[in-house]
Amino acid sequence: MAAERTLVLIKPDGIQRGILGEIIARFERKGLKIAAMKMLQMDGKFAKEHYAHLVGKPFYPDLEKFVTEHPIVALVVEGKEAVEVVRLIVGPTNATKAPAGTIRGDFSNSTSRNVIHASDSKETAEKEVKRFFSEKEIFKYSFRNEYYRYAADE
Ligand code: UDP
Ligand code: MG
Repeated sequence: MAAERTLVLIKPDGIQRGILGEIIARFERKGLKIAAMKMLQMDGKFAKEHYAHLVGKPFYPDLEKFVTEHPIVALVVEGKEAVEVVRLIVGPTNATKAPAGTIRGDFSNSTSRNVIHASDSKETAEKEVKRFFSEKEIFKYSFRNEYYRYAADE
C-alpha cells in the first residue's frame, strides 16, 4: 500500500465543544493511521501563512481571530489516498450543505466554525505537513493487523 500523508487540524471550536475524541475516532475507524499528533496555538503570522489564499477576503480578520485565540490539535493522517479520503470524511467547507455522516455535516452548521481543516491536494498536504511537523515528529510504525486494512496489492 502506497501510503499518502495529509494534514488535519481540529480547530478551536472542535476542542471548545468537547468533540476532539469523536473527530479523531472517525479517522481511526476508517483504518487510517495517526502518524503524528500535537496540541499548539497558532499566532497571527502562522495563520497568515496557513491561510495565505484567504488573507485578502473580507472574513479573514475574523478567521484569524477564531483560529488563533485558543489551542488546536494538529495530526498527520496516513493511508491509501489519504488526502482525498480525509476530505470526504470531513465534508465541504460550508457545513450547512455538508452531507450527514461527514464531520462537518454532523458537527457544524457554519462556513466558518466548521470544526476541522484538511489539506485539499497532495501538493498542499506536503507543504502543510512540513509547516506543522518536523520529520522526526512523524512516526513510521506499522499496524499489527495491516492484513485486515488493505489487500497485498493495494
Ligand atoms: N472560511 C470562512 N468563510 C468563508 C470561507 C472560508 O470563514 O466564506 C474559513 C473556514 O473556517 C474554512 C477556512 O476559512 O474552513 C479555509 O477555507 P477554505 O476555502 O480553504 O476551505 P476548507 O479547505 O477548509 O474546506
Ligand atoms: Mg482549504
